[in-house]
Amino acid sequence: MKLYSILIIITFFYSIGSLKAAGQKSFDVNGMDQTIKPGTDFFKYTNGNWCKNNPIPPEYSRYGSFDILQEQNYSNIKGLLESAAADKNAKHGSVAQKIGDFYSTGLDIEKIEKDSWNPIKEDLLRIDQVRNFEQFTQIIISLHKKGIFPLFYFGSAQDEMDSEKIIAMIYQGGLGLGDRDYYLGTDKRSTELRTEYKKYIQNMFQLIEISPEAATRASETIINIETQIATGSRTRLELRDPQKNYNKMTLEELSKIIGKFNFHEYFKLFGVAAEAPINVGQPDFIKNLSMAFESIPLQDWIVYVKWHLINSSAGYLNSKFENERFHFYGTVFSGKEKMKDRWKRVLEATSSAMGEAIGQLYVEKYFPPEAKKRMLELVANLKTALAGRINKLEWMGDATKKEALNKLNKINVKIGYPDIWRDYSLLQISKESYLSNVWAANEFEFKRDLEKIGKPVDRSQWDMTPQTVNAYYSPNMNEIVFPAAILQPPYFNLEADDAINYGAIGTVIGHEITHGFDDQGRQYDKDGNMKDWWTENDAKNFKAHTQVIVDQFNTFVAIDTMHVSGELTLGENIADIGGLTVSYNAYMNSIKNKKVENIDGFTPQQRFFLSYANIWKQNIRDKELMKRIKEDVHSPALFRVNGALPNIPYFYEAFNIKQGDKLFLAPDQRAKIW
Ligand SMILES: [Zn+2]
Repeated sequence: MKLYSILIIITFFYSIGSLKAAGQKSFDVNGMDQTIKPGTDFFKYTNGNWCKNNPIPPEYSRYGSFDILQEQNYSNIKGLLESAAADKNAKHGSVAQKIGDFYSTGLDIEKIEKDSWNPIKEDLLRIDQVRNFEQFTQIIISLHKKGIFPLFYFGSAQDEMDSEKIIAMIYQGGLGLGDRDYYLGTDKRSTELRTEYKKYIQNMFQLIEISPEAATRASETIINIETQIATGSRTRLELRDPQKNYNKMTLEELSKIIGKFNFHEYFKLFGVAAEAPINVGQPDFIKNLSMAFESIPLQDWIVYVKWHLINSSAGYLNSKFENERFHFYGTVFSGKEKMKDRWKRVLEATSSAMGEAIGQLYVEKYFPPEAKKRMLELVANLKTALAGRINKLEWMGDATKKEALNKLNKINVKIGYPDIWRDYSLLQISKESYLSNVWAANEFEFKRDLEKIGKPVDRSQWDMTPQTVNAYYSPNMNEIVFPAAILQPPYFNLEADDAINYGAIGTVIGHEITHGFDDQGRQYDKDGNMKDWWTENDAKNFKAHTQVIVDQFNTFVAIDTMHVSGELTLGENIADIGGLTVSYNAYMNSIKNKKVENIDGFTPQQRFFLSYANIWKQNIRDKELMKRIKEDVHSPALFRVNGALPNIPYFYEAFNIKQGDKLFLAPDQRAKIW
């Protein structure tokens, strides 16, 4: 698990993956439902027929533009992996050998079935032999190395106050259900998930030949421990506050809070210098853990740790384990009806293990250099448009404007793929077992991550692979990053006209840039340091303007009685609204003095908004929607369209939306930030 990227960067989607345009010249009007008025439901107006004609395939919990592109991407990557696996001349230790062996051991079902749970037996035995807390620490270390994180996450990160330096970081974790609210919530869904989680644990323990009675006891122990951990965990909303989650301390200070867990040993075995400062994201979480170490017997912790080993490994063991895991995390949690094809699951694992090695092959074959050139132009136009808007802002004073413009000018831009590729020469991949390869790759990654501690930041590194369909803004780096894979239709289309590109990838660029100026991003300066560059009055104005967005989104009902959380999704909603505004301005600048024609009966301005709504077309299962409302900082797709657009004055002009239309907001009720 690449923790640092999950925590710190701000992505475009909640998701972790031919660049030849698929014959798609432009926007497809057949997906629209023109019986709906644009001012009634713009999402349905743009996507209604598409949604009707594209039911969710059984292996998906959600199906839309992103997934279609992802599918196409998978078949491209599959070709790359298959040629590596078929290359009989690949030298041992070469990238082709490693990719090929990783992929083929994952596809060797016969061996995986026969091995059953043998790949974890030795580790389970070692855990059973733990007799004291010192040995317990050793076990935790051995699991963290494998990429399995009971108790907490550990890694490296830029120092929030000194972004040139990399320091150690501890972050809350250790929960099989992922979110504290599922343990503590009294709502129907949380109660249901706890019951199912318990059953899941029982079934898994029986698969490792534990009696049903002992399996039941184990499930109770695990849920008890995880509930205690949940009690000391922060909510997702609290985790969005960068100030609150920055608590730099020494190893001595940490050791005082963490009690009997030997952190000196932990540092020593990972080769981290004892004097290295640590950002303890959530000190109260660590304190709570320390109290739990005192009150819960070691025997129970052993059961908990065994569970984390089994649960994290199940996806790479035989079908009994894989099916149980899928039933819980796929079906119960997200409503999926069947597992993805094996080759896709193994492809994802291979891509996560050797992402940049595959990325290098991927961009050679599928990323046209023209795409990079065009993107650079678009980004420059967007930056100019935002600078123009900042200069004209009525609510912001000159001093803050100057700082905002400095920050905007300094945003670094990365497009396509890294200039310097990651070196995989020390990674060992063999034919021993699929799981041992996954662990080897995790260990390699963990080591690489920890080796950065104490060193200056390396600005050439990427937190996403080129084959990832997504984009991000990093506040500490003050940079926007667009991997090659998102630079394809419907997001980016070299063959389409500008209205389509500004409406899609332009709004993505604008979204990522705006993250530098959302409620979190604005707390960082041009160099990526958490530093307040706002006058008191401007900060007050900003908060008042953002409150409008919070209130708007709080009213949206996603499913049953579940509302969108305006606070949790605030940063993303600011970015969507800002991205739309800035991209529209940039588009209008670009067609100044140009003659632009209507296409398919729509004006260029209308096509800008249609292109935007088109990237959000999707169907989603109820369970997945409920999960996202709890966990996702992004609003559901429906509201990224119908919630964001009513704040954009140009949207009203383009579709002649008037008072009385459902999406109409009076001018004084619209959010005006960027
Ligand atoms: Zn975002």
